[in-house]
Parts: sequence; structure tokens; C-alpha cells
Amino acid sequence: MIQTRVGLGFDSHRLVEGRPCILGGVLMDHPAGPLGHSDGDAVLHAVMDAVLGAGGLDDLGTLFPDTDETWKDADSSALLRDVCKRVTEAGWMVGNLDLVIATDGPRIAPYRAAMRKNIADCLHIETDCVNVKGKTLEGLGAQSDAAGVVVQAVVLLQRRA
Ligand code: MG
Repeated sequence: MIQTRVGLGFDSHRLVEGRPCILGGVLMDHPAGPLGHSDGDAVLHAVMDAVLGAGGLDDLGTLFPDTDETWKDADSSALLRDVCKRVTEAGWMVGNLDLVIATDGPRIAPYRAAMRKNIADCLHIETDCVNVKGKTLEGLGAQSDAAGVVVQAVVLLQRRA
């Protein structure tokens, strides 16, 4: 019998001038990037929390706390590979993953394919098991004094019971 579990992930980061704009592990051509202790990759952070949540493991902030210098400017793709190893050791494999990226910053569409491939590679699954959809924030980011990126991720894990 196949056991399945669903996980939900969410993250949001401010976009600030002068930071590299790395989302989904892909360096984007944009003058502002996500602020964060690590590389600030809100996409991969939401993915990791979804995977960890489905696997019943500790969340991202517990595993890689932003108070720990070890994770300063950390490459979130490397963290995602670590997370994949943890859920694999718990007997799970990722079935599929779906993502919504809402931002008033960079256009997502030109980078969708590269993001899907990077995330799939980190999780050792086929690219068509990862989907990415870009949305605009419709100016809602202007309600605060900063531009931002908001990400939701949902994942299905499977294992043999
Ligand atoms: Mg984050």
C-alpha cells in the first residue's frame, strides 16, 4: 500500500536594491533581491517548509535558524538538497510539487523553466513533477513601503506503508 501526505509551505521576503535576486535557485536579472539571512530565496524556503511539513519533520527555522552564522548567505539550493536527504531517510519520495510566486518585482515567466529544473534536480525528481506559476501582487505591495515576493507551495509525498 502507498502512503501519501500533503505539505503546505509559505514564505515572504522584502525585495531590496543591491541584493542578488535569486528565486527558485535561479539568478534573475533584476535590480532588487530578497532580503534575508541566507540568500533570501523565498521560493525554496516555501518548498522546504512544504516538504518538511509533509514529512512530519522540523520546520526550516528550526533546522537552519537565522540566528546561526552557519546559514549566513547560505545557498538555499544546498539547503533544499539537505532537506531532500532528510525526507528520503524518513522513507518518503516527492510525488509532485506546485508553487505560486506572487511578486511586484521581477517577471517570473522567463525563469519558470530554469526554476522547475533546479527544484526538480535538488529533489531528484522529473521536471514535470514541479510546477511554477507567477502572479503579480496587483500593486498590493505598495500598501507597505517595500516591494516583496510571496510564495505558496504544496507538495505530495509518497512511501510504501
Ligand atoms: Mg525565508
